[in-house]
Parts: sequence; C-alpha cells; structure tokens
Amino acid sequence: MFENLSERLSGVFDRLTKQGALSEEDVATALREVRVALLEADVSLPVARDFVKVVQEKATGQAVTKSITPGQQVVKIVHDALIDVLKGEGEPGALKIDNPPAPILMVGLQGSGKTTTTAKLAKRLKDRDGKRVLMASLDVNRPAAMEQLAILGAQIGVDTLPIVKGEDPVAIAKRAKTQAGLGGYDVYMLDTAGRLHIDAELIAQAAAVRDVANPRETLLVVDGLTGQDAVNVATEFDDKIGVSGVVLTRMDGDGRGGAALSMRAVTGKPIKYVGLGEKMDAIETFEPERIAGRILG
Ligand code: GDP
Repeated sequence: MFENLSERLSGVFDRLTKQGALSEEDVATALREVRVALLEADVSLPVARDFVKVVQEKATGQAVTKSITPGQQVVKIVHDALIDVLKGEGEPGALKIDNPPAPILMVGLQGSGKTTTTAKLAKRLKDRDGKRVLMASLDVNRPAAMEQLAILGAQIGVDTLPIVKGEDPVAIAKRAKTQAGLGGYDVYMLDTAGRLHIDAELIAQAAAVRDVANPRETLLVVDGLTGQDAVNVATEFDDKIGVSGVVLTRMDGDGRGGAALSMRAVTGKPIKYVGLGEKMDAIETFEPERIAGRILG
C-alpha cells in the first residue's frame, strides 16, 4: 500500500552517488520524501516538521560512505533519530510495583481497550513475574464493564474484587486497597470508568480515585489508530490526572505507528506497552526499533 521509504530515497539519490558529502540541497530533497512518509504513517504535521529539522541538521555535510548509497545513509540517520525520540528511559515496560500491594491506576476513554489491557497486564504480571494481582472495576455507570472484567479475570485466573451494587468509585478503590493488603496481593489494578470524550466528571472521578489510591503507576490506555486524537487525549489526561506511562492499543491494525512518535514528541511520556490484538496474550513491551521500522516502511 505504501511505497517503501528506502526505495523512494534511492530514486532521489541515484544521481548523487559520486559526490563526497551530503549537500544541503540533497538532504532537503530527501527530507521532503521523509516528511511525506511520516505523514503517511500518521505522524502529526508539527511533529513531522520538527523531526525533519533535526534530521536535516544531523545529515547535512555528513560524508557519504562508500559501502552504502546516500539514500540508505539518510534512511539510517532518520532511523536513528526516530529511535532517539521513541525510546524512553530505563527498561522497556518496567513498572514500579515493589512495596506490595502496589496500586496501578488504569485510565483512558471508553473503547480504547482499557479493560482488556488491564486484564492483559494482570496476566502478564502473574505469568512472567509471578505476581499476585487483584483487579477492580470502578465503572459504576456501566455494569457490563464491571462484569467484563470479572469474566476476563476468571478466564486468566486473576482475582477480581467482588462487585457491590451502589458503591461509588472511591469506595471501591478503598475496598480494593484493603482487600489487596489483607489478601497478600502484590499489585492491585484499578480500572477506572471511561467515557467517549474527556469531561469534567470523568476527570474529577479519576482524580478522586488517584487521591485515595496513591498509585505507583497511572497508565493511560489509548487507541494507537487514532493518531493526533491519541496525543490530545494523552496531553489532557496528563495535565489533569498525571500519567506515568502510556499503552498504545490496536497496534496490530493497519496503522503505521506514527501516533507513537507524536505521543513521545508531544507528551514526553514513556510508551510502556503496545496492544497487538484481542487475545489476553496480545500485549508486548514497547520496542522503539520495531516502531521505527514500521514508520519507515
Ligand atoms: P474499554 O472500553 O476501554 O475498556 O475497551 P475494551 O477493553 O472493552 O476494548 C474494546 C474493544 O477493543 C474490545 O473488543 C477489545 O477486544 C478490543 N481491543 C482492545 N485492545 C486491542 C488491541 O490491542 N488490538 C485489537 N485489535 N483490539 C483490541
């Protein structure tokens, strides 16, 4: 569907192979192609523009190596610069969950994959790290969402906090904390209510829960296919609630992963995990190399 960036660039550079260094004009020509590739990969315009500027500074005047073509060389510079932006600090996917029971707050819009991601992460913590995990749904307006978490919990062998009708989210969070302490759990995950759009009530509720739970991690789940919207959602959640990391879902879809670059460039928040399907094992730590390769095509 998309023309590979390396192929595009090699066309641009065919005539340049005899020159000794990348000139400003050569680089500018190549970077027009890079910018188009980034936009096709759903990177937002200002981010693409800034990124191209950085690459331009790095590439101009660089000696052309004999072993690779100038096109390949620019691709490598672009690839390395993508990794620089995409990678966060520390171990990919690392969560602060020492000091049991460690609360993890899950936030995001309805339909982003929040409940599914909560269960996927719980399963991963149980299977890979041998953690005892308790999950609790705080979505009191949508009983179906509460039941969905209970069903997923039963399916993956992770306990969920029993549902008590009429309880508000803060009371549920307090009960989860008590239960996690008494039950000897390592981690308890609070799956907050999602809505279709961010509104004052959603934020107030998440903030109230945050204040009683004092989470070690606040993970924002966003749909990786929504591009610039995903970045706007992240900026707003981070401003209002404070986010420690992002999980990008639906990265198994057709998207080219540009949301990841915009997300990092705009919010600076680490992307900790990516969701790669509906199954409970379809989650992986975020690997900058893989996304860079996908953006470049
Ligand atoms: P919530 O409203 O944010 O809690 O969203 P759900 O967890 O209920 O997920 C909504 C739909 O998206 C469900 O059908 C999930 O199976 C699906 N889903 C969640 N994560 C992914 C993912 O990474 N890839 C794909 N293809 N589907 C996903």
